[in-house]
Amino acid sequence: MNFFDSLINDSLSVISKYRQIEYSPDKSEARSDTGYSQVILQRDTAYELSGAGISLVTSSDIQDRIIVAGDELSEISGNRKFARISIIQTDDVEDEQKAYNLIRKIEYVKYHVFPEGYMIRTASSSHKESVRVAKSALKNGISFESVGKLMINKYKEIEAVRGVKIIFVTVPDADYDAFFRIAEKSNDITKTLNHVMNTVSFDCDTCNLKAVCDEVEGMRELHFRNKEMNM
Ligand code: SF4
Repeated sequence: MNFFDSLINDSLSVISKYRQIEYSPDKSEARSDTGYSQVILQRDTAYELSGAGISLVTSSDIQDRIIVAGDELSEISGNRKFARISIIQTDDVEDEQKAYNLIRKIEYVKYHVFPEGYMIRTASSSHKESVRVAKSALKNGISFESVGKLMINKYKEIEAVRGVKIIFVTVPDADYDAFFRIAEKSNDITKTLNHVMNTVSFDCDTCNLKAVCDEVEGMRELHFRNKEMNM
């Protein structure tokens, strides 16, 4: 599966301009998971991070890594813009329906990660993601390293997942608009995949997904291959 590869390259290209801290997760300890959605009140909050959350799936090799582009949690003292990008390597799934189901399953992981003292708020209707970091969590050493390690563990509960890179961006003047654009495009690709599996109309000139098929290698071929299989 390589539909998202150009977006992965775009993401890596944006963060390449910034200072990066890199962790190898086999040497990291995962933040404990509360197992349920916690509420961190304003008065208990050290600061809020707000921005985009993105998941990009590929069957190309991805090494397990946690990358912080910008400051670690302990280095931040006030509200910041932020982005979280998860790049996930899966088995190469031939069957399109299975590939689509796998992408959805990977997207849903974000609703099932509850790092202690790190309240994630995310909307299914958009790629906005915000985080409240508890004062008490900062005192007991919470870090992106430990949160990222927990996220990697959660993704790896899915059998087809092979490698996971979690990138946190906190550079104050990073190009956050670029991350929202990448998130939008990723959403469009997933929607198009769903469309090509379920739609029997093949008129590209009137199709509202033409821009995606023009840009994403293999998408148009996939739709027309499905047409032949269903004839
Ligand atoms: S191949 Fe053509 S009809 Fe099919 S989704 Fe793409 S633009 Fe639309």
